[in-house]
Amino acid sequence: MTRKACVVGSGPNGLAAAIVLAQAGLQVEVFEAEPTPGGAARTMELTLPGFLHDFGSAVHPMAAGSPFFSSLPLRDHGLEWIHSPAPLAHPFDDGSVIVLERNLEDAKRSLGADGNAWSALVEPFVESWNEFAPEVLRPVRSIPRHPWLMARFGMNALLSAKTIVRRFQNASTRALFAGLAAHSFLSLDEPLSAAFGILMAAPAHAVGWPIARGGSQSLINALCRHLSSFGSNVKTSSRIESLASLPQFDLTLCDVTPRQMLNIAGPRLSDTYKRLLQRFRYGPGVFKVDYALNGAIPWKASECLRAATVHLGGSFEEIAASEQAMRNGQHADSPFVLLVQPSLFDPSRAPATKHTAWAYCHVPNGSRTNMLKKLEDQVERFAPGFRECILARRVFSPADLEAMDANLVGGDIGGGVMDLRQIVLRPTWRSYATSAKDVYLCSSSTPPGGGVHGMCGYHAAKMALARLS
Ligand SMILES: Cc1cc2nc3c(=O)[nH]c(=O)nc-3n(C[C@H](O)[C@H](O)[C@H](O)COP(=O)(O)OP(=O)(O)OC[C@H]3O[C@@H](n4cnc5c(N)ncnc54)[C@H](O)[C@@H]3O)c2cc1C
Repeated sequence: MTRKACVVGSGPNGLAAAIVLAQAGLQVEVFEAEPTPGGAARTMELTLPGFLHDFGSAVHPMAAGSPFFSSLPLRDHGLEWIHSPAPLAHPFDDGSVIVLERNLEDAKRSLGADGNAWSALVEPFVESWNEFAPEVLRPVRSIPRHPWLMARFGMNALLSAKTIVRRFQNASTRALFAGLAAHSFLSLDEPLSAAFGILMAAPAHAVGWPIARGGSQSLINALCRHLSSFGSNVKTSSRIESLASLPQFDLTLCDVTPRQMLNIAGPRLSDTYKRLLQRFRYGPGVFKVDYALNGAIPWKASECLRAATVHLGGSFEEIAASEQAMRNGQHADSPFVLLVQPSLFDPSRAPATKHTAWAYCHVPNGSRTNMLKKLEDQVERFAPGFRECILARRVFSPADLEAMDANLVGGDIGGGVMDLRQIVLRPTWRSYATSAKDVYLCSSSTPPGGGVHGMCGYHAAKMALARLS
């Protein structure tokens, strides 16, 4: 008799879990609360007709470098990665810019005096990406298959970004690394903040920081099409309020965070396990704005037009102050802003001659502060005249983000704080398993955490299958 499984939530991790279960021969049903699958990787007309905006994820080093997604025929289902000439640009007040080149040798040359130090930091992981990615995108408590490589990573990863940048002579290289490390949502003097800097830099050289033609939804559509080749589909507009409302399944995998898990699965869980889930800590939130633009952003440093992603925050010290404020529950006066300009490289995102961009800054979880002026001041600082280019904008406070995707609790886009404790115990010592033997968690609140890579779903489904008697 065919075994039956269900997945609650169709984010990248829910879909990855569903595909692994379907590959194993189970009959899978996916329930999605929203009218469109994809969670924080959807693409929508958020401003004006004809302008396609990535609601959440836009740049996909982890998806392009994901061991699981790379094993699927997603290209055959319409996924095409587009690489901007350079992955990242980081401009400064004087009109200069530091550009991170994709090719490591080119990057080494362009970083000048810091080229060798940069290369020493990332080269082992760039060279061995195919061995490194599966190691780093799984629970940290697993026994390493490449102990030397992981020891080399661990040596630097455990440090703070502030410690790592002492290796760089140029203030611009220190600023570049600060922007990468700030993806951690940690303060830049906290242990592990360096890990995120390395984890962002290594794939920039190994696989690039691509965007998906047509928007992140193209990745989701490709995953859904592959899933349907097994006879499984996503039932949209189907919010699961309680697992008790579902028919009997042999396995239930939940692409939700601990707080939602407590709501939908409460009666199925032991009191001890519920207490552990209650202790799970969410991370800071984001304040995000989507823009429809009349033209390309008028950067002072025109080199910024070579990169899909632009980090706006100036020096290491300024970015560190911004992230420290957010970590202390405050709002930075000059917030570090992450900006993506996809239509420069993918004309399908906007009508001819028009453009799209998204920008966000980090804020305390659940913040109600309107950061629009501060965020746009930061863009204007490096692109005077930016405001005059705006045809329309859509602002998302943390609460607005959560209203569009229940997993974005308080605007937390990473599924929970990624500090030392919650990297090891994510969300509890059981990782994907819960106290109910047929119910599993598979969202970014499980290892390896936030980002579009599908590896939380992949590992959760593998564990669930291994335990299915
Ligand atoms: C603004 C923003 C920018 C980001 N930028 C990037 C980026 O550039 N690159 C990158 O790699 N990552 C980025 N991320 C992070 C990335 O999008 C997430 O880490 C990733 O989507 C997590 O996948 P997931 O499947 O765990 O959860 P989600 O993508 O959040 O999906 C969860 C799904 O479950 C559904 N759901 C929840 N509860 C229920 C229920 N009770 N019943 C039915 N369905 C339910 C939700 O509606 C949602 O569709 C960004 C996120 C945001 C919000």
